[in-house]
Amino acid sequence: LIKYEPSKLIKKIAPEKKVKRLMSGNLTLKKAALSFIDPLAEEFGLSKKRIAEVALKTLKGYRNRVKSDSATKGELKADPAQLIQRVQNEVVLQIGAEIKTKFEGERYIWLPSDAEEPDPEHQLNYGREFIVGDGEMPGDRYGCRCGMQIKVPETQLNLGE
Ligand SMILES: [Zn+2]
Repeated sequence: LIKYEPSKLIKKIAPEKKVKRLMSGNLTLKKAALSFIDPLAEEFGLSKKRIAEVALKTLKGYRNRVKSDSATKGELKADPAQLIQRVQNEVVLQIGAEIKTKFEGERYIWLPSDAEEPDPEHQLNYGREFIVGDGEMPGDRYGCRCGMQIKVPETQLNLGE
């Protein structure tokens, strides 16, 4: 079984401190992208190269905005927490899409969100079984912190890399 939990994913790959350092230019993009790779590649059997690409693209986009757009720059100074949360949400959205592509067609159980205000429509799906790639899924909506437990045979995880 594979558990995809956005909140844990964020803690692992994009903790607040790291994103803040990154956005303020104190951490190189390459270093940051690399730090995203290993835990994910191992846990979900994703391609290291692909994760690096996805992470780098997201981070680059935000960093460029901080550099070139004075409104975003001001936002980082005024309310870093909000910008950090946006970056985290975006990374989770992108990585989530990779995970969904990899496990398309497998069955999964919808896990509850730990967001402060969970989506009432998503709450109806808690504990129910669905197919990856079929209809709306946890993480499809921006900021959704629902998770999923994907039913995959153990052996399948070691394939790939
Ligand atoms: Zn949700």
